[in-house]
Amino acid sequence: MHQLTLAEIARALAAKQFSAEELSRALLGRIHQLDPQLNSFITVTEDLALEQARAADARRAAGESGALLGAPIAHKDLFCTQGVLTSCASKILTGFKAPYDATVVEKLAAAGAVSLGKLNMDEFAMGSANESSHYGPVKNPWDTSRVPGGSSGGSAAAVAARLIPAATGTDTGGSIRQPAALTNLTGLKPTYGRVSRWGMIAYASSLDQGGPIARTAEDCALLLGAMAGFDPKDSTCVDQPVDDYLAALTQPLAGLRIGLPKEYFGDGLDSRIAERVLAVVEELKKLGATVKDISLPNMRHAIPAYYVIAPAEASSNLSRFDGVRFGYRCESPVNLEDLYKRSRGEGFGAEVKRRIMVGTYALSAGYYDAYYLKAQKIRRLIKNDFVAAFSEVDLILGPTTPNPAWKLGEKANDPVAAYLEDIYTITANLAGIPGLSMPAGFVDGLPVGVQLLAPYFQEGRLLNVAHQYQQVSDWHTRAPEGF
Ligand code: GLN
Repeated sequence: MHQLTLAEIARALAAKQFSAEELSRALLGRIHQLDPQLNSFITVTEDLALEQARAADARRAAGESGALLGAPIAHKDLFCTQGVLTSCASKILTGFKAPYDATVVEKLAAAGAVSLGKLNMDEFAMGSANESSHYGPVKNPWDTSRVPGGSSGGSAAAVAARLIPAATGTDTGGSIRQPAALTNLTGLKPTYGRVSRWGMIAYASSLDQGGPIARTAEDCALLLGAMAGFDPKDSTCVDQPVDDYLAALTQPLAGLRIGLPKEYFGDGLDSRIAERVLAVVEELKKLGATVKDISLPNMRHAIPAYYVIAPAEASSNLSRFDGVRFGYRCESPVNLEDLYKRSRGEGFGAEVKRRIMVGTYALSAGYYDAYYLKAQKIRRLIKNDFVAAFSEVDLILGPTTPNPAWKLGEKANDPVAAYLEDIYTITANLAGIPGLSMPAGFVDGLPVGVQLLAPYFQEGRLLNVAHQYQQVSDWHTRAPEGF
């Protein structure tokens, strides 16, 4: 049962091959047996899951037939879940049980999805390796001495190891696409504003976006269809109808114009990854696509701009964790200042503190113009690069990451080396456009991802191209040994 995709599960449940309760019990058994090797879950909500599964079975027995009715999933632990620990993998949220569900959680539950628990991540989604979690690092099921990517590393490891068929993630600078690439999955970061951020604990509010991580583009289409849509509770959520992503999958690719940015194939890219990416391009040509060389000239400024804007927003967002309102409070504070200082000093990890300091500095009087404002101007240039590129091509294609999964600890003491892993993904967040990573083969037994980028609200096109590629390739069907 654990090998099935969401689409296959939907058919099996409709054909009564097994019940949602049986399926959830089987996967909970796998989580108990196998997750100690991976550490992908922070919380397993067994009782709640079985209750939701029985409710899904009852709805089906009463004649309902939604594709996600009874589908097991799990949520990254920064989506608020009512009455369940929502930790952001931080000590500072110790014991915090959210008083309400995030809109994404609510929408997926309404569609009948069964949540098996909450997934490990980098603390406050800051990281590319899932090593900054207060709950310990997550291991990559393809090689447990390696990182699964981050920050949605728990989501990626759990789906890759077939503990769950799909999960939610969030992507501020690549945190859905990069872990998907490093674990042989399909992951989609939607257009900024496509999916509600209500109840999604903020890291960098102008960049954060929730999305699906699954094995296939078809499953991402199923999940995105349920997650997306206008939400009056999020003022940045766009009031635009949700496309029929399943219908988009089957469009032929004849005439599709693909752009290959020269900046995506330069120094720093592992040449074996470049080979895999170009092999995908050849397959897409056979399906009728045409290819054009393009340029995104301001891409080289993306990492410096991101590492000013994201920490600036984080320093502001994380000021709410003060030892008074949520989670952790230090022992016996002597006065209010001591309470703030020690609660935050003891509650936040090193990477989070680094970013709060960088961000506070960048926003301080006298430096705001030199750093924050400058970074915002670069952001506009990057957006303009994409707008110009999309006047010539329908889709941009390149590698998702410069390297395959690295060893645990390898970059842990070198934040800049880790930041450089985001080089291909963060431009999409700065511009707000949608991006998808899909499996493209292996290098030394480690998965490699190809990234597709599309104009605003063209998630359907990304899913279409990925699905068509998955009809003529089988990388996405490969499972890590031992799982
Ligand atoms: N690795 C990037 C960072 O640490 C992106 C993280 C994310 O997308 N949440 O900021």
